[in-house]
Amino acid sequence: MSQKSVSRFWEWGRKIVCVGRNYADHAKELGNAVPTEPVLFLKPPSAYLREGSPILVPRYSHNLHHEVELGVVIGKGGTSIPQGSAMDHVAGYALCLDMTARDIQDECKSRGLPWTLAKAFDTSCPVSDFIPKERIPDPGDVTIWLKVNDRLRQSASTSQMIFSVPYIISYISDIISLEEGDLILTGTPKGVSAVQEHDELEAGIDGVVTMTFRVDRQQ
Ligand code: MG
Repeated sequence: MSQKSVSRFWEWGRKIVCVGRNYADHAKELGNAVPTEPVLFLKPPSAYLREGSPILVPRYSHNLHHEVELGVVIGKGGTSIPQGSAMDHVAGYALCLDMTARDIQDECKSRGLPWTLAKAFDTSCPVSDFIPKERIPDPGDVTIWLKVNDRLRQSASTSQMIFSVPYIISYISDIISLEEGDLILTGTPKGVSAVQEHDELEAGIDGVVTMTFRVDRQQ
């Protein structure tokens, strides 16, 4: 590995590939069909946010939603990675929030436009510390949760994912080559809701990590 450590993946400037609608109960709560193949979109590296800095509600949105997700950090790049060896490409994990301007996303959907304004703005990807691979022996069997102002909003096992982590790595790398330092967001369970200026978001993976972020409005 180079001088850069993948444990600070957010500093690498690599891409963030996100999977939408990977939990059936979340697809249903937004009125979407349960997909037969993954829905993909991207966030730029400028979307990264670390604890200590606030999540900013974009000026153009009045309905910013939280989506808590398990993130997968790529340790070894590849193209068309087979499912059977996909886990060899994983360096570790991170707890992530896919912050979503839901009002803008709804508008984009109805007008057939891409989701960039809804999903890719600055601070739209808060991330926890890096979690070494050994600390999560099975990424398909951990509980992720999120509280807003101490009230539980989302809590689910990753066993409810429609597409598994190895499947997602294989599927994405068939289309977009994965590189060391890339991050994959694996989708959110039900319970998404709006956050406001001054709210406090706390999220965790049971027994592994917690993180806290405040919400502010973009000036
Ligand atoms: Mg999401």
